Amino acid sequence: MNAEIIAVGSELLLGQITNTNAAFISKQLAELGVNVYFHTAVGDNPERLVEAIQQAEKRAELIIFSGGLGPTKDDLTKETIAKHLNTTLEMNEQAMQSIRHFFEKIHREMTPNNEKQALVLKGSFILENHHGMAPGMVTEHQNRFYMLLPGPPKELEPMFQFEAKPFLMNKLFEDAAIYSHVLRFYGIGEAELEDRIHDILDAQSNPTIAPLASDGEVTIRISAKSKSKEEADSLIYSVEEKIVERVGDYLYGYNDDSLASKAVDALRQHEMTIAAAESLTAGLFMAELASVPAVSDIFVGGEVTYHTDAKINTLGVSREIIENYGVVSKECAIEMAKKASEKFGTKIGVGLTGAAGPSSLEGETPGSVWIGIRLANGETYAEHLQLSGNRNTNRLRVVKKTFSILIR
Ligand code: ATP
Ligand code: MG
Repeated sequence: MNAEIIAVGSELLLGQITNTNAAFISKQLAELGVNVYFHTAVGDNPERLVEAIQQAEKRAELIIFSGGLGPTKDDLTKETIAKHLNTTLEMNEQAMQSIRHFFEKIHREMTPNNEKQALVLKGSFILENHHGMAPGMVTEHQNRFYMLLPGPPKELEPMFQFEAKPFLMNKLFEDAAIYSHVLRFYGIGEAELEDRIHDILDAQSNPTIAPLASDGEVTIRISAKSKSKEEADSLIYSVEEKIVERVGDYLYGYNDDSLASKAVDALRQHEMTIAAAESLTAGLFMAELASVPAVSDIFVGGEVTYHTDAKINTLGVSREIIENYGVVSKECAIEMAKKASEKFGTKIGVGLTGAAGPSSLEGETPGSVWIGIRLANGETYAEHLQLSGNRNTNRLRVVKKTFSILIR
């Protein structure tokens, strides 16, 4: 099945909002094995919307619309499609129920004006909206599906996942479903990883294997199509086994794991506590730590010591160290780690210092970073990174690298 996404809204063309809906839907469709060949964005204008639909009809069997389902004058997706398909809008009891439920949920009175939202394309399949008013819908016309989704991502995303996706799976696979499993790698580039498993990638059919690189990590999604979860699991496992045999050294987790959550698991397992002193990352490391639920048993606290004065006066790094070695140095990173663990009474201390870029700091090359760690037994460890990304990518890389060291 080929799909095309038409995002409706003049704000998209004015650059006021980014078309995240198209990206989201595409990603979801890829998991279903549905090809997306075109994304279109069109303003709130019926003639141009019809033009976009006519184009899409030439090349797709599934046309997905986002936006313009609301009650206001500029929301004209439903009306335009109804006219184009030579059909009408009708009041739908299920849609009305869905709107009533929404109002009950937010404890507000439903006004007659809201009932208009229950007008849907005649005979369409309703996609309930649990996070807003406008229901979505799918209608079939001349062997083509037209799927209408609301614009706000917080409504569209759950609607797609929990309402539209099951509908599509039903059409695509009858009673088979897609099961997937994600492997997470750190410390290996996408190109090298693909190179090492290229024959496995070339031979794929069911399950499919999709590598994806982002933020210094690589994931591999293995998706199997099957009528039973057991069969899917065994299909997935047979591929996973082969991949792990080749690149298992870089595998750090699965599915929803993150480097931060795995580092927390490792620290917890060894009954460790941790504190940090952060310069170039200015709290990013601690923020990532705190994004892991219930981390207070291992994460005690820390300090952001951005300016040299703060490193000396607040944290207590000695002036001599900075004068002798500089702020971007192994010695300074280790001293920051020691002071953090002393101040917060933790077994482990982390010190992060460096030049995030693009300009240099104290003659240090931009992207030059030291990670210092004070271990529970009092020993210290340091690692140097030379990063080449932009400022914020570099800061994120430092944080991830630090977690990866803590996992080892
Ligand atoms: P509502 O009932 O809220 O009016 P709607 O279905 O009519 O919903 P629009 O009016 O087109 O949707 O858009 C509402 C909001 O949804 C926009 O202001 C924008 O914040 C968000 N939105 C719309 N389209 C997109 C898109 N393609 N990607 C991301 N966000 C979008
Ligand atoms: Mg609207």
